[in-house]
Amino acid sequence: MRPFAYLAPTDAASAVALASVTADAHATATVQYKGGGTTLIDLMKLDVMQPSTIVDITAIDDEAMHRISRTGTELRIGSLVSMASLQADRSVVRDYPLLTESLWQAASQQLRNMARLGGNVLQRTRCLYFRDTSYDQCNKRTPGSGCAALDGANRGHAVLGASEQCIAVYPGDWAPALVALDARVEVLGRSGYRSFPFADLHRLPGKTPHVETSLVPGELITAFTVPGGPRRRSLYRKIRDRESYAFANASAAVALDLDGDVVRDVRIGLGGLATIPWRAHRAEKALRGRKLTESSAGNAAEAEFAGARTRKHNEYKVALGKATMVRALLDAQSMEIA
Ligand SMILES: Cc1cc2nc3c(=O)[nH]c(=O)nc-3n(C[C@H](O)[C@H](O)[C@H](O)COP(=O)(O)OP(=O)(O)OC[C@H]3O[C@@H](n4cnc5c(N)ncnc54)[C@H](O)[C@@H]3O)c2cc1C
Ligand code: SF4
Repeated sequence: MRPFAYLAPTDAASAVALASVTADAHATATVQYKGGGTTLIDLMKLDVMQPSTIVDITAIDDEAMHRISRTGTELRIGSLVSMASLQADRSVVRDYPLLTESLWQAASQQLRNMARLGGNVLQRTRCLYFRDTSYDQCNKRTPGSGCAALDGANRGHAVLGASEQCIAVYPGDWAPALVALDARVEVLGRSGYRSFPFADLHRLPGKTPHVETSLVPGELITAFTVPGGPRRRSLYRKIRDRESYAFANASAAVALDLDGDVVRDVRIGLGGLATIPWRAHRAEKALRGRKLTESSAGNAAEAEFAGARTRKHNEYKVALGKATMVRALLDAQSMEIA
């Protein structure tokens, strides 16, 4: 690992100020916040990330960043809540099953104890060529260098949202659940707080795959909010190479609102298939106002994957993605809601 400065402020405003001042004072400085460090330290050891300063945010004592709370119909989750704490919260288990199911199927219990939800949504791709610096070609790591995955080992790569510059999959499980809940993200920057749809946080790779989010440098994620009250008819289905401690080959987060068998509303987030946490707008449109059956769910999945683009080793993801979405929808339909 390379040498770096380590700062541990105790309030959010100081963290933002330190991150900004450090970057301003040294034109070449790269500053990274550290939550649990399970992505950041990992990638520093691999020399993929090389921050000159780390701002450890776990000592921040702003209570709202550590708390899960409800105001009216809004659920608010502080960004320093650990994956394990949210996964274990009984009222969230009952009212938002997809939020907790997507967490307990991710990583390992030890990692979930360490990792915070702010860092979770900003985890980096698992693309082999990104994580191994002995490969020269990776536009995400070294802009303009090419993409070794296009004609390389691309079994785990994206079939939705990819570009000719990058086909890396967004690997996380929790973010697709936030997408399916129309969640918002709250951030603190130099000019104060702002809040925007979570679906706008991650950027498609396009020609600039190294720019992964819409965050302004130095902005700190402080919370996630979910509007509209409980979503008890919701779940997360994850398909992977082995039943635990593996990233998704395909996953679907579904929040379903039924009037009898007819879909009043539905929101679907996909994981393991796309370059960003993917909102399945086409499938949702195909389902609203229709009776939910295996056939209508299949048609919706066809509509969503009509625009899929495959490479040599990831063709299987189209069939797997459709089947995962259909299974998630039918399982959500048959949930018994208390
Ligand atoms: C072996 C292994 C297996 C895993 N398996 C899975 C899996 O199956 N599913 C899954 O979803 N995940 C999996 N993960 C990823 C894991 O969930 C993430 O590493 C973790 O959630 C990141 O959280 P953290 O607090 O440790 O982030 P950190 O490593 O601290 O930070 C990650 C990034 O986010 C930035 N950051 C952190 N907090 C903030 C904030 N509040 N505001 C702005 N920027 C911030 C940091 O600067 C850094 O760039 C796995 C990880 C490992 C190591
Ligand atoms: S897919 Fe993206 S992350 Fe992987 S090698 Fe290509 S540019 Fe790099």
